[in-house]
Amino acid sequence: MTITAFSEPEERIALRQAVAKLAGSYGREYIEKKSREGGKTTELWQDMGKNGYLGVSIPEEFGGGGGGIADLAAVLEEAAAAGAPLLLMVVSPAICGTVIARFGTDEQKKRWLPGIADGSFTMAFGITEPDAGSNSHKITTTATRDGDEWVLNGAKTFISGVDEADAVLIVSRTADAKTGKLKPCLFVVPTDAKGFEAQPIPMGFVAPEKQFTLFIDKVRLPADALVGTEDAGIMQLFAGLNPERIMGAAFSNGIARYALDKAVDYVKTRDVWGQPIGAHQGIAHPLAKIKIELEQSRLLQQKAAALYDAGDDFGAGEFANMAKYAAAEVACNATDVAVHSHGGNGMTQEYGLATMLLAARIGRIAPVSREMILNFVAMHSLGLPKSY
Ligand SMILES: Cc1cc2nc3c(=O)[nH]c(=O)nc-3n(C[C@H](O)[C@H](O)[C@H](O)COP(=O)(O)OP(=O)(O)OC[C@H]3O[C@@H](n4cnc5c(N)ncnc54)[C@H](O)[C@@H]3O)c2cc1C
Repeated sequence: MTITAFSEPEERIALRQAVAKLAGSYGREYIEKKSREGGKTTELWQDMGKNGYLGVSIPEEFGGGGGGIADLAAVLEEAAAAGAPLLLMVVSPAICGTVIARFGTDEQKKRWLPGIADGSFTMAFGITEPDAGSNSHKITTTATRDGDEWVLNGAKTFISGVDEADAVLIVSRTADAKTGKLKPCLFVVPTDAKGFEAQPIPMGFVAPEKQFTLFIDKVRLPADALVGTEDAGIMQLFAGLNPERIMGAAFSNGIARYALDKAVDYVKTRDVWGQPIGAHQGIAHPLAKIKIELEQSRLLQQKAAALYDAGDDFGAGEFANMAKYAAAEVACNATDVAVHSHGGNGMTQEYGLATMLLAARIGRIAPVSREMILNFVAMHSLGLPKSY
């Protein structure tokens, strides 16, 4: 293997530079202002869509750039590194766009993918349920057939961006006709469907994206709201969850980069002992450690994405989980060290870092918690007995 195997293709490097420039022109101030005013990042989202960045991994024939998840993850990482971690990229283009592109009918692809690619149609994703939580085998949202239609009943919680979404890809279950056992299935539910209600959850962090509890009460859907097939639901779901984890890693790695850059800039100029505080090892070493952890974490993100884009869903599963874990850890560590390196300024609005502490913390919980990843790695990578 030559050393060039560790570099990204020139097109992706150019893509990163272009996204960094666009997202940087909005910057952290824009996100903080929108968050505090209860506003949305619509202008930035539409700009990202118009320039083709949201749709980089969607097939060209449906309005996308024809690239892979590695490209989409590069877009999110750069936006986050510029201070704009666009959470809905994890769901709309990554999960929903991928699942529809891989398993949807031609008609479904034509209907939804161009809008997801150019940012004019946003799709949220709902799997988490109040009484199931991390144990998604316990979800009870159920779809039953009624003539030509499906009828959905159930509830979801912590679903991001429903107020900005045109539809939600809902993980539901249908009863197997032969065994009566419930199996997962994916349905596109318009947010204005009768019987669909979204209640905002007052969250403890400030971000433009809100979270919602969904009440799904006898929502009637046409037959073609089902994406893919009833029988291969679990495989289709996992095909969407790997990109979700890789994008979770990109979200966190971008936040870590933003925090590290800010801290390094600050400690180069802040002077309280006759030299910049970055000259003290007590300040420099934690930052150097973050740099090493960050580069490790970015390599895992790139490996997971490369495996996924090569069609190795199984291998990608293992590395997507590890990448998400490593990235969440480095984002939490980096934001903490960055705040600390700024002293009191780290806690002010002006420096835009304090709110990032909580944004980084999301990565340890969602889309899959740190413990569930450790459970997965212990069982699948190490061959230990299932512990949950
Ligand atoms: C900001 C945010 C946005 C989100 N967006 C979405 C979204 O768009 N769509 C969506 O479907 N969901 C979303 N979620 C939900 C998220 O995926 C869940 O919160 C997450 O999967 C954990 O589920 P839970 O909150 O029910 O925790 P629980 O399952 O109740 O777990 C609580 C704690 O116990 C630990 N734990 C649970 N089981 C085990 C075990 N067997 N072994 C060891 N430890 C265990 C967990 O790791 C966690 O630390 C979002 C969450 C947040 C915070």
